[in-house]
Amino acid sequence: MLEIIRIHNELLGTYGDNGNAEVLKFRAGLREIKARVIDVSYLDPLPRGGDIYLLGGAEDAAQLLSLTALRKGSILARAANKGAVVLAVCAGFQIVGTTYRTRDQEFEGLGLLDVTTAPGDGRLVGDIAIKSPFFAEPMTGFENHSSVTTLGEGVPPFGTVIAGNGNGVAGLDGAMSNNVFGTYLHGPVLARNPEFADLMLERALGEAISSVDDELADQYAKWRRAVIK
Ligand code: GLN
Repeated sequence: MLEIIRIHNELLGTYGDNGNAEVLKFRAGLREIKARVIDVSYLDPLPRGGDIYLLGGAEDAAQLLSLTALRKGSILARAANKGAVVLAVCAGFQIVGTTYRTRDQEFEGLGLLDVTTAPGDGRLVGDIAIKSPFFAEPMTGFENHSSVTTLGEGVPPFGTVIAGNGNGVAGLDGAMSNNVFGTYLHGPVLARNPEFADLMLERALGEAISSVDDELADQYAKWRRAVIK
């Protein structure tokens, strides 16, 4: 049974990233792999044995509340060190970095990715397309953030930006380290790019999974990509 931990959806659910958990469960089910989604409130401790941990985007105040709760016990960092898969989107990506700065304060992040986030010049809102080294086709999403993220030396981005902003620095989006993935793509990203959901399932299971016929999802991803200039 794959355990998909949806972290603090009441705080990190503003941008619809909660759908990533549903997509993972659905696509696991297509292969007859049993999976369940476990919702964890910021008032409760994070389960230790999850296979996949998901963090979504949030407004600034909710983001800080979530970060404060996640610092207790360093459970996410320990799980990631043991190989658990982590997908962190936008505010979630900023939370798992080393530091996160607002206009008047700096906060220590969870340190899963060596990236730092600081306020940018304006809000970065709109459609985004990136090319990730994992996939032959570009990925698409939607971004809505005001902070920009700088990668530590040698940290690989999740992708390079084709259209939109991503990290807002150096034409890059996201970052990754082992099974930890950070990105600015909302959508939800796994609904718009089902191949990424399959990659996460493979990483969680530690083995290749069969390809499946999910015609509507494939068609939808194709339509999205067709409009990339
Ligand atoms: N509050 C953060 C920012 O504006 C994250 C926003 C988001 O998660 N969409 O940079």
